[in-house]
Amino acid sequence: MKLLRWHRGPRTVKLGLHCTACGHSFKRKVRKLLVDLNTMERNRGEPQGRSEYIIPERIVCPRCQAVDQFELASSSQVRIQMTILSRILVKPDPDDPVQAFRFALGDGTLMHPLDALEMYADQVARQPDHADLRVRYGNTLRALGYREEAEAQYHAALDREPTEIEALLNLAALHAAHRESQAAYDYLRRLIKCAPRSQHPQRDEFVEGAQLVLDGRIKLEEFDMTTPGRVLSAPVSPPRPVPRQPHPRRRKTRRKRKR
Ligand SMILES: [Zn+2]
Repeated sequence: MKLLRWHRGPRTVKLGLHCTACGHSFKRKVRKLLVDLNTMERNRGEPQGRSEYIIPERIVCPRCQAVDQFELASSSQVRIQMTILSRILVKPDPDDPVQAFRFALGDGTLMHPLDALEMYADQVARQPDHADLRVRYGNTLRALGYREEAEAQYHAALDREPTEIEALLNLAALHAAHRESQAAYDYLRRLIKCAPRSQHPQRDEFVEGAQLVLDGRIKLEEFDMTTPGRVLSAPVSPPRPVPRQPHPRRRKTRRKRKR
């Protein structure tokens, strides 16, 4: 069953998009399309707010040049949903440009990934020297596939706090995922070396994991598979409270039928 047409070279998926600014429909090949299953389930009844489809690259409308203002054409949505289903039922494919995931913060808070990204960007802007915040921001960027941006945050965290072992762990995982084994091993060695000076609550766990990889008891290729659970961290300060919406049932007033 061929659901999507794959292209040679780096795998991409061709999507039908619809510009919400000018109404133009266009096609675009993307390297990655993420589907947040939590948002998909929330949108099932009545779509509201953010889309469950996340493309971690800038999409510019070829007609009006609007940036990142698009909807996925319904034909593409159907194909994507079938692809995800076949991945779940048939076999997972980590290189597939279409990936389903469940996004949550480290404390279990469900949040749309783009809201989390905005929240962390905002927190980092207000507290640029807060290394831990930069790691959390980096983790969210990494989870969404923004590799360069994630790396920049980890390095910025390490510039401010050289014993930030979570940054080192995630940098190692990033390089491992891209089969850059030398760099991955270097970060793991660095992690073990500076761990005694780290106050990280998961320090022992990180050291143990790093040691297992360095000893060859966990293959480097499998290393990244062991991390996604902790890829997403909890925000340092709770997100700003969302203005409370009146409950829809309370707001509902019976409309008198006019004849
Ligand atoms: Zn447009």
